[in-house]
Amino acid sequence: MNIKKTLFENIIERKIPASIVYEDEKIIAFKDINPISEGHVLVVPKKFSRNLLTIKDDILAYLMVKSVEIAKIIIKQKGVDGFRLHVNNEKSSEQVVFHTHVHIIPSRKGDPKWKHIPRGQKVY
Ligand code: 5GP
Repeated sequence: MNIKKTLFENIIERKIPASIVYEDEKIIAFKDINPISEGHVLVVPKKFSRNLLTIKDDILAYLMVKSVEIAKIIIKQKGVDGFRLHVNNEKSSEQVVFHTHVHIIPSRKGDPKWKHIPRGQKVY
């Protein structure tokens, strides 16, 4: 592990293990270690930006297109009918890892309300 780099750079460089579900030259996607729902995946651009306040437009566009593409595959695999894409930007929004990432959170009818979804528990 390189302490000068972000957690996600360490995952990209394979210094920290992660359950990787997709990777190409620009992004990597891996399972969240503390999932909100089954299939919760993080999509991370390899080129560093802190969050959506500073990301470059071309990387943002690619990140969003690929996040939706990956989300569609995940919900099909999990047999659920929907998903959320969620991005925290800065501490006030509960960003903890300061390297841009999109949360893909599979959802289905009857899930607990967003604000009350307990971490680490499968909701279905
Ligand atoms: P944030 O609150 O910054 O938007 O989300 C950071 C996410 O990273 C959290 O959902 C958290 O569970 C996840 N996370 C933190 N540490 C690790 C780790 O070491 N491995 C993986 N795969 N996910 C992590």
